[in-house]
Amino acid sequence: MAGEIGHVSFDANGPACHCGSRGCVEAIAGTDAIVAQAGLRFDDAVAAARGR
Ligand SMILES: [Zn+2]
Repeated sequence: MAGEIGHVSFDANGPACHCGSRGCVEAIAGTDAIVAQAGLRFDDAVAAARGR
């Protein structure tokens, strides 16, 4: 995954990313981050989308 655009760190003090860096684009603007900011866990969102 190294070098992927979603893991370009632009904020050394940003949220920790699963890739081990901090402030990755993905950590801040990725799907999980967006869902988290919406107050939902990703798994819950998937379950809701499936019509649990
Ligand atoms: Zn990352």
